[in-house]
Amino acid sequence: MKWEDNVRKVVPYVAGEQPNKANMIKLNTNECPYPPAPGVRKLAEEMDYDKLRLYPDTDSTMLVKELADYYGVKPAQVFVGVGSDDVLATAFVTFFDSGKPILFPDITYSFYDVWADLYRIPYIKCPLKDDWHLDVELFKQPNGGVIFPNPNAPTGLFEDLSVVEEILEANRDVVVIVDEAYVDFGGESCLPLLEKYDNLLVVQTFSKSRSMAGLRIGFCIGSEKMIKYLNDVKFSINSYTMNMPSQVMAVEAVRDDAYFKSVTAKIIATRERVKKEMIELGFTFPDSRTNFIFASHKSVPAKEIFEALREQDIYVRFWNKERINNSLRITIGTDEEMDTMLDFLRTFLKDR
Ligand SMILES: *Cc1c(COP(=O)(O)O)cnc(C)c1O
Repeated sequence: MKWEDNVRKVVPYVAGEQPNKANMIKLNTNECPYPPAPGVRKLAEEMDYDKLRLYPDTDSTMLVKELADYYGVKPAQVFVGVGSDDVLATAFVTFFDSGKPILFPDITYSFYDVWADLYRIPYIKCPLKDDWHLDVELFKQPNGGVIFPNPNAPTGLFEDLSVVEEILEANRDVVVIVDEAYVDFGGESCLPLLEKYDNLLVVQTFSKSRSMAGLRIGFCIGSEKMIKYLNDVKFSINSYTMNMPSQVMAVEAVRDDAYFKSVTAKIIATRERVKKEMIELGFTFPDSRTNFIFASHKSVPAKEIFEALREQDIYVRFWNKERINNSLRITIGTDEEMDTMLDFLRTFLKDR
C-alpha cells in the first residue's frame, strides 16, 4: 500500500482572486470598500506590542459578551471563530454527523459541498426555482441537516422570514443553519426565531458589512446547548482560534454602531442607484439585498464582459458553472468605483 492511499482527499474551495495592482477596482470578493470603524485604527496604532508574547483568551470573552449585548442574547449563546468559514466548518463537523444527507440549494455558497466532502457528509443539492428563490418543498424531504444563506449568494435574493420558519417547522429534529453573511445590507435576521427553535444556528461575519475581512472574524448565535457542542469540538481541534488583535478590534467595531449603520446605508444607496443604471445598460438580475448584484446582459455573454472588465483592471466574479455561467457577481464598491465601471460598460456595450 502506498501512503497516498491513506490521504484524506478533497477538491478544495476556490476563493476569488486577490490581485494587488495599484489602480485596480476590486469588485470580486464582496469586501467592503470603506475602512473599519475609526476606533479600530486607533487600537491598531496603540496596540500593546508586548502582549503578543501571550496566548489570546481562548473564550474570546470580551467579544462574546459584546456580541451578546448587541444582539440581545446570553453570552452562552454566542460562538466566535476565524471568519464565518471557520464557524461554518466547525458547525458542519459538530452538527452533521447522522450519516443522512444534508440539504442546501444547488446555487449557493460553493464552500458547503467542499466541507461536506471533506467531512464525508452526504448531501442533496435542492435546485432553486426558475426565479432563483428557494424551493421550500424540497427542504421537507428526510435529511440530516439543512443549511442555506439568507440572503442567498450569489443570487443576492432574500427569503422572507416566513419561508425560513416554514423550513424550520419542517425540520425540528435536525440542525438548521442560516448563513447571514449579507443580512446587514437590507435583509432581516432570523435571530428572533431562536426563541422558538433550539435547533437553529444563525451565522454572521465581520468580513462584509464591518469591513474587517483581513482580520478573519465570524460568529454564530444559537441555543446554549448548541454553542456548548460547538465549543466541545473547537476545544478538541484548536483552543486558540481567534488572535488577540482580532478580538480587541472586533469589540470596538461592534461598539461603533453609528459608523456601522452609516457604512451599510451608503452601500445600500449605491447599490440601488447602480441597479437603475445597469437596467438602462440592458442587464437583468434578481433583486439583490446584499452588497453585490448578480447580473446578466441581454445580448453580451457574461464571460466576454468579465474579460473586458479584467483588461481594465476591474475585477468581478464569474463562474463557468451550469445555470450561472451567464451571470457576473459584481460587488458594490464606492460610488466612484461603480461610476468607472459603468462608464466603461456604457462604451463597451454601446449598440449591443
Ligand atoms: C463571505 C461568505 C462567508 C465567509 O465569510 P468569512 O470571511 O469567512 O467570514 C460565508 N458565507 C457566505 C454566504 C459568504 O458569502
